[in-house]
Amino acid sequence: MKKHNFSAGPSILPEYTIKNTADAVLNFAGTGLSILEVSHRGKEFVAVMEEARQLFKDLLDVPAGYEVLFLGGGASTQFFTIPFNLLHKKAAYLETGVWAKKAIKEAKLLGDVDVVASSADTTFNYIPKGYTVPEDVDYFHITTNNTIYGTEILTDLDVPVRMVADMSSDIFSRPVDVSKYDLIYGGAQKNLAPSGATFVLVKEDVLGKSERVLPTMVDYRTHLKDSMFNTPPVLPVYSALQTMKWLKEQGGVAAIEKVNIEKANLLYNEIDRNKMFQGTVLNQEDRSRMNVCFVMAPEYAELEKEFFEFATAKGMSGIKGHRSVGGFRASLYNAMPMTSVQALVDTMKEFASTK
Ligand SMILES: *Cc1c(COP(=O)(O)O)cnc(C)c1O
Repeated sequence: MKKHNFSAGPSILPEYTIKNTADAVLNFAGTGLSILEVSHRGKEFVAVMEEARQLFKDLLDVPAGYEVLFLGGGASTQFFTIPFNLLHKKAAYLETGVWAKKAIKEAKLLGDVDVVASSADTTFNYIPKGYTVPEDVDYFHITTNNTIYGTEILTDLDVPVRMVADMSSDIFSRPVDVSKYDLIYGGAQKNLAPSGATFVLVKEDVLGKSERVLPTMVDYRTHLKDSMFNTPPVLPVYSALQTMKWLKEQGGVAAIEKVNIEKANLLYNEIDRNKMFQGTVLNQEDRSRMNVCFVMAPEYAELEKEFFEFATAKGMSGIKGHRSVGGFRASLYNAMPMTSVQALVDTMKEFASTK
């Protein structure tokens, strides 16, 4: 039976990425050796790293003056690396979920943090609006897609300072006006590659302004030249390059955004139409295209387990909601085909028709 992979992360990757990665594990770039067992400083992998950094810039139409790094440590390591480098006195943060809270906690160790707004009052099921970002902060930090709660900031906000954004779970899902950001970062394991690599897109001229003594690995400048100060996450970077090549073939981020909108609409329409289900994010404009969260309608609440088992039997995988939200979460990352979203919608329809 075909499996439909709705996992939130690590998550679905294009078949192109998986096949090419598997090939490179067996024979990397015609060397007769596995990518797992050759030097990261050999010319074959140096070429991979260079192409990956360049393609990242091409796909997001990155203006001059920014550099792309592939580091270890996950997005969570960036929660403190960012304030080490960029927080001189005060930064503003938007609290839209657990990942934002974790970023705030680390930033507070290093400076003043102004949490300008929070949606904690209702389990983060909306994106706060109508707040003011002070003009005297070093940056404004946002989490563009809140993987656990299914909310997303789908536009590049207009604020008086440049932004720093955790785009772990929506990178490359839409075009981004990079000039509004000092830094964009994320774990690669949601929309790009297997776990192990972290991408950081940083504006070079904001670096070197910290009065702190920065440990070498924490200072972004260490990695600017070739993103190879230490051994980079070789295999995930290789996979990330494959995903970016695949994405370019699909027509790039503007083209994939159209598909992402169609996929999300298909599923949200069914959630809104089907009397057995309801979405957890009520504001239409805050609904994530990447992670669609829904629960049983109150009068069918006792059928949650039954639907889960029904859907699992139909090949749906990874649809259980995060434990803090409950219900279901279907992650529709770039690599998720429309046919799998349709299969889930058909499953929901069929389940309702049996009741
Ligand atoms: C998964 C996730 C993280 C955590 O990433 P790690 O690489 O595991 O540290 C951070 N932010 C968001 C938005 C995420 O979805």
